[in-house]
Amino acid sequence: MSKDQDPPKRRFPLTLDQLTGRADRQRASAAPQLNSLQTATRNAAQHSPQPSAPAPVASGAVASSSAVLPKPPSRSLAETSAVNSPLVSDAVRRAMVQRLSQQGIQDATVLAAMEAVPRHFFVEPGLASQAYIDASLPIGYHQTISQPYIVARMIEVIRDGIEGKVPRVLEIGTGCGYQAAVLAQIANQVYTIERIRPLHEQARRNLRALLIPNLRLHYGDGMLGLPQLAPFDGIILAAAGLEVPQALLDQIAVGGRLVAPVGVRNQVLKLIRRIKRNEWTTETLERCHFVPLRPGTFG
Ligand code: SAH
Repeated sequence: MSKDQDPPKRRFPLTLDQLTGRADRQRASAAPQLNSLQTATRNAAQHSPQPSAPAPVASGAVASSSAVLPKPPSRSLAETSAVNSPLVSDAVRRAMVQRLSQQGIQDATVLAAMEAVPRHFFVEPGLASQAYIDASLPIGYHQTISQPYIVARMIEVIRDGIEGKVPRVLEIGTGCGYQAAVLAQIANQVYTIERIRPLHEQARRNLRALLIPNLRLHYGDGMLGLPQLAPFDGIILAAAGLEVPQALLDQIAVGGRLVAPVGVRNQVLKLIRRIKRNEWTTETLERCHFVPLRPGTFG
């Protein structure tokens, strides 16, 4: 069955009970078991759910860059996977969430959101059986769906200290729309921007079946943000620049947060807080690996 024919409507919207309360679990004392630095294409080729050589790098999105963007592999309707069965996908998603909690994700609201969103809806049918491994996977146009750990981690960082839902969140780099769907579970209103038009359109198709009313998709250059809709209580970048564009810093609400990968080869996740109208603080959190943040639009 194609994913568009099998919407998990019973899961949306989530009840308040599912999305409130914080975990009293302590962060696992051992260092998180993070994904190895491998290309998303290799991830896709790997059938084992456990990457063989874990390294301390979380992979948000791994792909090489090129002026000519390859189209995604064509979808095969005949290609079905056990994960497309709602019962199987619920079980493997629960296992993924358990793994996230062992990796150090403590926020129960974030874990509930990760459990609610069917990640296999956002990848090619041929990759659906790998949708719940902790790895980035190709989505076409040299871009990837981010690794579950880094999606959960960035959302946890944005939510930290906020009781209830985050009022307004902006995501730069919609890709296939997965992280935006997770964000929509923990925020009142989510805006997301993608610069590659076919991906923006694919994300729209992926999200259609989920009927998420509090998510708005924009096509454009996310480096400019959405000044007409600013300020945002949380801003998440899903692509790495050499620095965070000033336009985005200006669009953080006072008291709000921005989380972004920064760097080229050696990237780190940065948390920027806007503490006063003209004052921001920066904290370096951990190593990561994302596709590059690029200016302008494509397509
Ligand atoms: N959020 C995605 C990750 C997508 S990968 C997920 O759920 O897994 C990062 C995305 O950022 C790519 O689709 C890339 O095209 C996009 N991107 C890079 N630079 C951008 C920019 N300036 N504006 C908007 N999107 C950008």
